[in-house]
Amino acid sequence: MDKELSSPVQGEPIAAIATPVGVGALAVVRMSGEGVFTVADKIFTKARSPETSLADSSGYTAHFGTLHDGERMIDEVIVLVFRSPDSFTVEDMVEITCHGGPVVTQQVLKLLLDNGCRLAEPGEFTRRAFLNGRIDLLQAEAIGEMIHARSESAYRTAVNQMKGGLSEKLGGLREQLLQSCALLELELDFSEEDVEFQSREELAEQVRVLQQEVEKLVESYQHGRLLSEGVATAIIGKPNAGKSTLLNALLGEERAIVSHMPGTTRDYIEECFIYDKTMFRLTDTAGLREAQEEIEHEGIRRSYEKIAEADLILYLMDIGSSDYEEDTEAIAELRQKHPDIQLLVVANKTDTAEDSAERSEKVAEKTGCKVLGISALKEEGLDQLKAEMNTMVEGLDKLHDASVLVTSMRHYEALRNAADALQNARELIDAQSDTELIAFELRSALDYVGEITGKVVNEEVLNVIFGQFCIGK
Ligand code: GDP
Repeated sequence: MDKELSSPVQGEPIAAIATPVGVGALAVVRMSGEGVFTVADKIFTKARSPETSLADSSGYTAHFGTLHDGERMIDEVIVLVFRSPDSFTVEDMVEITCHGGPVVTQQVLKLLLDNGCRLAEPGEFTRRAFLNGRIDLLQAEAIGEMIHARSESAYRTAVNQMKGGLSEKLGGLREQLLQSCALLELELDFSEEDVEFQSREELAEQVRVLQQEVEKLVESYQHGRLLSEGVATAIIGKPNAGKSTLLNALLGEERAIVSHMPGTTRDYIEECFIYDKTMFRLTDTAGLREAQEEIEHEGIRRSYEKIAEADLILYLMDIGSSDYEEDTEAIAELRQKHPDIQLLVVANKTDTAEDSAERSEKVAEKTGCKVLGISALKEEGLDQLKAEMNTMVEGLDKLHDASVLVTSMRHYEALRNAADALQNARELIDAQSDTELIAFELRSALDYVGEITGKVVNEEVLNVIFGQFCIGK
């Protein structure tokens, strides 16, 4: 279904606490929808000119006064009035800034619910903003990503997306696709007359350029994903090499303090740390701990399984151990089997061997890998290690144009499908196939791109996206 950007529809009045749970100096409880001024007038008395009502106030005005439940005063508050269409949801809105703390905010919310509002569902304010055409789907998602951003880079990318960077890019692509489609469909209308409104060569060239642009966005997901989810980093190595010690040292004080996010599979954030502007996510750390119990061979085999999922591998070896050359062989083999992985060899326990520098050099020579000496226990060399990890990640993304990035799996998949449809279209043009078939592929590409910004709306997708928001957003 193609969504029309219609005039604002005022939904039933909804209310929610917009600020986080907990004690704070102030909190905000907000309402949106038809009749919210009437609700507010029932429970709020202005300190100045109490005889005037909020319903008669202009938009963007603030009013100081008291909230009361019948005779009982609830709190002294500031009420902000937003008049449709000049509000976040495009509906009439009221924001009540009250004193912080769970009891006060709950009382204020209860008052609103008792006087005609319904409790908002998660993301319902943002959903209304989207349905009223205030923001597109991409921007709505960006708001969610911005709230949950765990590194500065992820935050900046989300802000950019909210401002409409990616939307604009996709809008341009859609426009061009629409033009090609329109010309082809016109031909179909005149099919009996056998006319071509655009030469097939010209069309083929247009589709090729479009496909290239879509592919570029698809590729940017590699970098975008690193930004939004963090760099999946696996620490592998033989038991007792010091993996757990290194893990704890890396997480140490810089352990990212992030709360559990409902509705997402991001429970792993506990095991993240941020260096410079990059977030590193240490993967499968539970498995890493278990591996200690296992016989050597099994431990290494399991490590190999982790490699496939990681963006960056730290191979940790005990450089002080007498059998460190075994590691050299394992690393050489790893390099050979997976020439494309980002592999950093870390020589641990430099404090236990005087000749650790020479030993490291030997390993480097034999494996062709860079070897970095550290002592995880004494926390020596960790800064260099983090800096090196950061440099390797920078090498991971070839596209440094961070202005337009694809950071979400949903967008990535839609663009992938669009690119495939464009490829099909090109092949059909080359094979001089029927106009109808070519038009069909272009139309699908158009729909896939439209799905991203919400021009083509799918109710299920909306539920998934907005369900991940917190209540009050
Ligand atoms: P894992 O099996 O690879 O996770 O290894 P652990 O982190 O459990 O470490 C094995 C042992 O090596 C522990 O007794 C650690 O205290 C010790 N260890 C780890 N790193 C160092 C280090 O840099 N120097 C020294 N001397 N001992 C270390």
